[in-house]
Amino acid sequence: MKDSKQTMASDADPNSISIDAARKVIFEQLPSIQQTQTVPVLQAFGRVLAVDLTSAINVPSFRASAMDGYAYRHTEAELTLRIADTSLAGHPSADDASAGECHRITTGARVPDFADTVVQQENVEIVNGSITIKHGSDLGHHVRPIGSDSAKDQPLMSKGQRIGAAQIATLCAHGMSNVEVIRPINVAVFSTGDELNDAGTALPVGNIYDANRALLASMLGSSGVVVNDLGIVKDSISALEDVFERCRHADMVISSGGVSVGDADFVRPVLERLGKLHVWKIAVKPGRPLTFGKLDQQQPYFGLPGNPVSAAVTALLFVQPAIRKMLGQASIELPRILATLNSTLKKLPGRVEYQRALLEQDDLGNWSVSTTGLQDSHVVSSLHKANCFIELGFDSKGAQAGEKVTVIPFAHFADPVL
Ligand code: AMP
Ligand code: MG
Repeated sequence: MKDSKQTMASDADPNSISIDAARKVIFEQLPSIQQTQTVPVLQAFGRVLAVDLTSAINVPSFRASAMDGYAYRHTEAELTLRIADTSLAGHPSADDASAGECHRITTGARVPDFADTVVQQENVEIVNGSITIKHGSDLGHHVRPIGSDSAKDQPLMSKGQRIGAAQIATLCAHGMSNVEVIRPINVAVFSTGDELNDAGTALPVGNIYDANRALLASMLGSSGVVVNDLGIVKDSISALEDVFERCRHADMVISSGGVSVGDADFVRPVLERLGKLHVWKIAVKPGRPLTFGKLDQQQPYFGLPGNPVSAAVTALLFVQPAIRKMLGQASIELPRILATLNSTLKKLPGRVEYQRALLEQDDLGNWSVSTTGLQDSHVVSSLHKANCFIELGFDSKGAQAGEKVTVIPFAHFADPVL
């Protein structure tokens, strides 16, 4: 985008708004998806929990041994104890034992009622089917109390929790085979540009391959998001009108390209006519011309800039959090950390800048970060070599090697929206 107001000393555009102001407007406009569905827990990976869950059972539901050893009465620690029975995981021993008796027990096995303590096998001596305890345990030691993982009827997981591997394990450990989640969000995605062609086709002179639909499908696609690929759309008012019509049933619409002020940039006027424009121009680099509005069916619409790096940065900063918010996910932000900069970075004040970078840890455990080279917004290779952004603030004039800078780690854009 050409920017006549830009001077050497500043990169500010008086018509742009701050990232925070833009996000506030965007988030206020987002509807939240309320419909839920019940799915098998094993298919719930990546979905958002729709209800608060309480624990239906105590876990563990019986006193369980934390060690391979012997279950005994703490008061009898000084005696020689006859091994009267064996409690294996899944095969409990009898609950009673006479005075002077203990039970052999394995990890995860039920501790018989008579016993209050377990001594690990390394701390006993076995002679003729009896043990003497060399190093006794404290009272109750190595016995996992009933409900010590989670207690029956107590809160287990909150609505808005994104379900990952640990949540699936927890639900299964509590005997749950189904779970109520928010229905998937339908996101329509298209690219605009007369120069665009699909990979795998011949490339006419002056044309390029479309990188953005694939980028967005990969960044957004997950079990909680259904991406509807609407293809490449020509740079014309009628083509845009047609594609917006095809988006009627989407929960969100995302396009790339055509949001600047060039001769073929029609997205904004068409959006203003068919819906409502809420945000245009944000003080961010790359991605300033990001366009946000609502289409006539009230679907949130993101018009991302066409350069793939700009599209990626704005999708990460605005679109992914917006989808998480619409799905009711409790945590919608990427974490930020501080790392030591390896080389000097130049920047003009007036926008928040996101430089693609590589975060690495040295042998001493210190994190340092280096840019991935040329940062122009058409340089897709700066993205695929990166595992983070360096975030340089609005007023920043760059940063010196050795300085601590703010870093937003990401997983090579491979980590989908949820
Ligand atoms: P635009 O935002 O439409 O002005 O496009 C800005 C730059 O990004 C131009 O160089 C376009 O050719 C390029 N571009 C636009 N859309 C895509 C796309 N889907 N994939 C790769 N490059 C694109
Ligand atoms: Mg274009």
